[in-house]
Amino acid sequence: MIRLNHITLTFPDGSSRVTAIDNVSLTAHPGTVTGITGPSGSGKSSLLAVSATLIRPDSGQVFVDGLDVSQLNSHEATELRRNNIGIVFQQSNLVPALTAREQLTVMNELGGRHSRRKRAKAASRADALLEAVGLSDQAGKRPHQLSGGQRQRVNIARALMNDPSVLLVDEPTSALDQERGASIIDLILRLTDELDTSTLLVTHDLVHLPRMHGAVHIVDGRLSNAASTA
Ligand code: ADP
Ligand code: MG
Repeated sequence: MIRLNHITLTFPDGSSRVTAIDNVSLTAHPGTVTGITGPSGSGKSSLLAVSATLIRPDSGQVFVDGLDVSQLNSHEATELRRNNIGIVFQQSNLVPALTAREQLTVMNELGGRHSRRKRAKAASRADALLEAVGLSDQAGKRPHQLSGGQRQRVNIARALMNDPSVLLVDEPTSALDQERGASIIDLILRLTDELDTSTLLVTHDLVHLPRMHGAVHIVDGRLSNAASTA
């Protein structure tokens, strides 16, 4: 579960500060997807960055599985992200030289100790996830050999490698056409259910919202009631 409690975040802006998030509270439970919509610049990505412990809020708390993670030091926050939080950024940031399968297995090599047994476990999880996102046949391909939609699927699979309890996804369909976008949303809904993640999904595309378990609309950093679940 992830719970944001009265989060406020400001950025320096010349001699004053701009408020990116203004007193936002929300909760996402395991096995559910909460949509976050709002105009460009309304604070959606900032909200995900705070949820991911990449940015510390000015005030308020972030609870992940009941633990207040908003005051962790950077080492502890890195550890938390490695073990508990899956992040899919807006730009796919796959490593050009690695195959789809290696994009996943390399997650196991980043930090932490890795025994041979752990490596075998990571390899079988990578294969299971590639299958879950429909890419078993493309496992040996590098990013430039994959379509935009396939790259996004690799991104999502990679974010799930360490079995996170929280999945944060920023505009996964922005570079895709309607049909491919809809299938990415379907995939996130299905994996959230199968893997029981608490998922926050930023999208500016309102057509996807009715299929989510909940939705919030954010304007100028503030939650608005205008577009809750349809
Ligand atoms: P969205 O994802 O909804 O488009 P953002 O969260 O990216 O919105 O931005 C919200 C507000 O915070 C905007 O006014 C943006 O200019 C500002 N902002 C975001 N990141 C930074 C930053 N690193 N430094 C300064 N201002 C920022
Ligand atoms: Mg954004």
